[in-house]
Amino acid sequence: MWFSKAPEQALNEFTVNPATGLTTEEAKARLAKYGENKLKGKPKKGLIALFFTHLQDMLIYVLLGAAVITVFIGEYVDAVIILLVVVLNAVIGVVQEYKAEKAIEALQDMTTPRALVKRDGEVREINSEEIVPGDIIVLDAGRFVPADLRLIDSANLKIEESSLTGESVPSEKNANAIHENSKTPIGDQSNMAFMSTLATYGRGEGVVVATAMATEIGRIATILDEDIEEMTPLQKRLDELGKILGFLAIGICVLIFIIALFQQRDLFEMFITAISLAVAAIPEGLPAIVAIVLALGVTRMSKINAIVKKLPAVESLGSVNIICSDKTGTLTQNKMTVVKLYTFGNVKDIPAAGTGLEAGQDEQELIKSFVLCSDATYENGQSTGDPTEVALVVLGEKYDLARRTLHAEYKRVGEKPFDSERKLMSTLNKEENAYRVHTKGAIDNILELSTTALVNGRIVPLTAEMKATYLKVAEEMSDHALRVLGAAFKNTDRKLEQADMETDLTVIGLVGMIDPPRIEVRDSIHEAINAGITPIMITGDHKNTAVAIARELGIATSIEQSITGAELDQLSEEEFLSKINNYRVFARVSPEHKVKIVKAYQAHGNVVSMTGDGVNDAPSLKNADIGVAMGITGTDVAKGASDMILTDDNFTTIVHAIEEGRNIYNNIKKSVIFLLSCNLGEVVAIFVSVLCYWPLPLMATHLLWINLITDTLPAIALGIDPGNKDVMKKKPRDPKESFFANGDGFRAVMGGLLIGSLTLAAFYFGLREYGYSLGSRSIPDEVLTYARTMAFVVLAGSQLFYSLAMRDPDKSIFQIGLFSNKFLIGAILVGFILQFAVISVPFLAAAFKVQMLSAHDWGLVILFSLVPLVLKESSKLFTRTSGN
Ligand code: ADP
Ligand code: MG
Repeated sequence: MWFSKAPEQALNEFTVNPATGLTTEEAKARLAKYGENKLKGKPKKGLIALFFTHLQDMLIYVLLGAAVITVFIGEYVDAVIILLVVVLNAVIGVVQEYKAEKAIEALQDMTTPRALVKRDGEVREINSEEIVPGDIIVLDAGRFVPADLRLIDSANLKIEESSLTGESVPSEKNANAIHENSKTPIGDQSNMAFMSTLATYGRGEGVVVATAMATEIGRIATILDEDIEEMTPLQKRLDELGKILGFLAIGICVLIFIIALFQQRDLFEMFITAISLAVAAIPEGLPAIVAIVLALGVTRMSKINAIVKKLPAVESLGSVNIICSDKTGTLTQNKMTVVKLYTFGNVKDIPAAGTGLEAGQDEQELIKSFVLCSDATYENGQSTGDPTEVALVVLGEKYDLARRTLHAEYKRVGEKPFDSERKLMSTLNKEENAYRVHTKGAIDNILELSTTALVNGRIVPLTAEMKATYLKVAEEMSDHALRVLGAAFKNTDRKLEQADMETDLTVIGLVGMIDPPRIEVRDSIHEAINAGITPIMITGDHKNTAVAIARELGIATSIEQSITGAELDQLSEEEFLSKINNYRVFARVSPEHKVKIVKAYQAHGNVVSMTGDGVNDAPSLKNADIGVAMGITGTDVAKGASDMILTDDNFTTIVHAIEEGRNIYNNIKKSVIFLLSCNLGEVVAIFVSVLCYWPLPLMATHLLWINLITDTLPAIALGIDPGNKDVMKKKPRDPKESFFANGDGFRAVMGGLLIGSLTLAAFYFGLREYGYSLGSRSIPDEVLTYARTMAFVVLAGSQLFYSLAMRDPDKSIFQIGLFSNKFLIGAILVGFILQFAVISVPFLAAAFKVQMLSAHDWGLVILFSLVPLVLKESSKLFTRTSGN
């Protein structure tokens, strides 16, 4: 039990030096011995098992039943065809599901958390799967604990262990504690940190005592498999639609069967036809196609730096109409440079480069405090840490106040870390015979905590006028889009606790730093606004700085469009709700304001995306419709709570992701409407001929063939149609909007009627060729075969051509480029080749009871097949010209 032993024992046991960690070689050897630090999820279904799950479908049972009956009657060929189609359909289903699953898995691999580990004497960030027992792990706020650790060092460390204990209040950790009682429950083991829990505050270090399945979380048998199988709202709706259509189809089949009974048709033939009609009518391929389109979509999005963690997010993205974005790093470059410095009465411009520059006495104190109160490093042009602090350390270098020398001279003995509520950070450093607190942060907050000021080397009382002067200077800098940071200090003769650090301070002055906006963001903002999306800036920074940058980027036009967190707190809930639409910039806000903001927007019916990076951002990310975490600067906590991660932290990526989301939704819609039109066409052809007592234009096997082979490929190809730039010229989709809104349902019905009628027409032409008509009785078999071949090919061909017209509801196939979707062209070609083969290869033709067609006949069927496409294109042309 490591918690009842001293840390040294753990270090000895795993033979590791806590200062340097393991060597790379040793780590490699241990990785081979202990295996990857990975929890095993549910065992994956094998391909065979997957295949059988695809057979467990009501329809398939019906088909199998039909196959058995055909065998009894002696129609072996039909039985074989039915079975082949069933198997082929299952295989296609398995392949699709497998591909979709692989795509999602690849994405999950991209989001495995990384861990800070000491190796070969330096701290590195590696994949948490490569952690081995004995590794020395560094924890800081926001980080995921990668394995079970015996803590060897801790500073105000708090860890949230709800994934293990269910307790959501973070527990305080202490490396020095030793729990004698060997039955100490996990929640009370304050000297341990456990895999899959989250550090939320402070810092710590620990030695890995268990990895992978040997950890506490690994021992709990039920592993929380990520909800990959969660259905998106669209999938759920399509599922319901499928069920309704299924019942309808079965109803129609029963009806057909009953009518046929009265008409005294061949019962067996009708039975099989009714069943295959059911197969034709029920869009059972839909869920699989939607799943693969979504999976391919998220793979494509990962290539443009947006990793979608939850599939439903893809759909919601298409409806987003408000993007709340952080300022620093997302809208700006997060490359800060100090350009101005102010001590009481003196403004100084900082040159862009240079060393050994001169500074006054107060200025030196100011820079010293800033540097001592920073964790960032800057050496030989290489920096680590928070860019704000890097700028301060770089400032120190210019004035011969290098971080390395200052930190060596004035050792840090205590600290109160930065948090976005206080917007301050303090450290306690040793002076010659005493201590000094250095505080840096938001100047307004510093002034509130200060009672004195440093002026010309003397500490003088801070008067109200002086405060006003500091604030005025800060405001001026802010108006020029500078990020302002103040510094203060306090001398003390004892080691202060955290609670006593930030009181009675002496303000020294402030600096202004530039953080240029990202160049590409201006265009993205413009694009978003054109797309009916309102970009909102949310920042902890000063109001004037925020507004200055917001104006530069086109987010806001005046200071009236901004509000601070403090002002927001003054408003009642109703007031805030009624005013929120006036604001574009929220400044000086803390994470809890973010939740308020999201909820207020949602109360107005908006679909909100919100960015976040810090530990405290998790609630707002969860509340937003699309929680977006920063991939580079974001904490594991924020990433865990998000729906999407930006690997480049860039606002532009959010806009691109929304564009993709809209395209993916549209593509799914195209494929669904296409499939429904096709299915309806088949139903119409059969139903009408039964009603009118005509001979059947198609046989059961024909329907199965077309429905499961010919139209599947174009449907998938439509699902991966290349993005259409015009989607960003339209308003966001109303999430409540029906799938069949904007006349799409009507279009599906028209398409179906057309395809069905043409099939019947082709059948009629075939009969007439030999002098028969639809009303004729006792038509010779050869004539029927010929006429059915015509109908069969026209049905397939018109669907294939029609898919081209489905690509865009307004633009012609030439405007979007006939060949711009190569997959669709390929799918159509393959469709025709298959169709040609099935009627021309003698053994297939015999099995399907069809025949070869002459060139003249082919000309005719192609002509027929082009009709739906041509009509659809003409109607587009009509709306286009009458619309302008
Ligand atoms: P944002 O990311 O929206 O710019 P932050 O939460 O990073 O906002 O910063 C808010 C304010 O907190 C800043 O304007 C600054 O005054 C203060 N601040 C930021 N970083 C630090 C830091 N490392 N130390 C002290 N204060 C900081
Ligand atoms: Mg920040």
